[in-house]
Amino acid sequence: EAEAMVERRARVLGPAYRLMYETPLHIVRGEGVFLYDADGRAYLDAYNNVASLGHCHPSVVEAIRDQVGILATNTRYIHDLILDYAERLTATFPDALSQVMFACTGSEANDLAMRIARAFTGGTGIVVTDNAYHGITESVAAFSPSLGPAVDLGPHVRTVPAPELYRGGGADLAARFTADVEAAIADLRRHGIRPAALIVDTLFSSDGVLPDPKGFLAGAVEAIRSAGGVFVADEVQPGFGRTGEAMWGFARHALVPDLVTLGKPMGNGHPVSAVVMRPEVCDEFGRKARYFNTFGGNAVSCAAAMAVLRTIERDGLMENAERVGRHLLEGIRALADHHPCLGDVRGAGLFVGAEFVADRESRIPDRHRASRVVNRMRELGVLISVTGRSHNVLKIRPPLIFTEANADRFNAVMAQALDETR
Ligand code: PMP
Repeated sequence: EAEAMVERRARVLGPAYRLMYETPLHIVRGEGVFLYDADGRAYLDAYNNVASLGHCHPSVVEAIRDQVGILATNTRYIHDLILDYAERLTATFPDALSQVMFACTGSEANDLAMRIARAFTGGTGIVVTDNAYHGITESVAAFSPSLGPAVDLGPHVRTVPAPELYRGGGADLAARFTADVEAAIADLRRHGIRPAALIVDTLFSSDGVLPDPKGFLAGAVEAIRSAGGVFVADEVQPGFGRTGEAMWGFARHALVPDLVTLGKPMGNGHPVSAVVMRPEVCDEFGRKARYFNTFGGNAVSCAAAMAVLRTIERDGLMENAERVGRHLLEGIRALADHHPCLGDVRGAGLFVGAEFVADRESRIPDRHRASRVVNRMRELGVLISVTGRSHNVLKIRPPLIFTEANADRFNAVMAQALDETR
């Protein structure tokens, strides 16, 4: 039956969409930390960074249901829900970041952020890390090198090596990262291109989940600013409390970005995204350009997003991410003690990366073992995925409502998968 659906899918959707797992999953329902397949089997979802409050959280479902029955207007009209949400959202940011514009996806938010950065600085050059993913639209794909050689980065983009502590970053990692960004800026200028922005995912998710060390971005941010550019923090992955220590991932670097982009968990599954920025940046864009996004920041999106923020705060989900994240990380590190294939286990809150290597001396990435563990865990009822340039880092991102018991279940299944794979 699953095979027939895969065929049907290929027939009607074509080949561009990839499926998760060697044995495709037919998911029909989600609730809390679980997804359920067509046979009613439950899967512990430690992959999903959208349903951050858990699948189909009642507060969000109710907020959407209520608002969609009243009005689903957009930013063409004044609407108190949109203003209430904008105020509530910006209140979670440092004072300097006080204005927000809405879109529907993370890609759109990054596309808009880059348009704004270019309007504000008058430059066009963009610096990103070398396996960054910032989105899928034509313009954003052009600064998302993780999409591979099929996508042309174009003349205005420069890449710098991601700051990997495990692979020899050492104490001078901050200095090296700063120097790499300075070199990228110098190269842009050599080609007559003025720098507009340095954009990074502050947890470096697609570069392999690189939370350490804290604070190393400061020098690079100073470099882009003194070259006339701005610093854009892509919080699509680390944002909304996932790191456990703060609402926003950039806090760990003790700096205030010029622009911040948000998405994924913002509506817990309802499409909504945003760019939060300094007012002078927003003003300059508004002087030069107009912006309208039919569905961006509509009242239903804002109702969903408001329910998300309220629930994170009311239920202490950031604190939960910190506490359960530590427990999860310790559990996986304990597994690494008995499994030398796990070269490094790192994380911030409920975002953990576990890196597979051929052996601990060579540190050669082992993507095959990582893939076998992911697929075995899926058979055993736990969902995760891989990330990183070499596809050898387990990407473990459970909902923020994960409990210690969920983490123990996760660890038991991972232990079994490690034992049963080579
Ligand atoms: N930025 C980052 C860091 C992301 O991980 C993603 C999505 N994986 C995006 C942007 C793009 O978001 P979307 O898929 O909603 O367009």
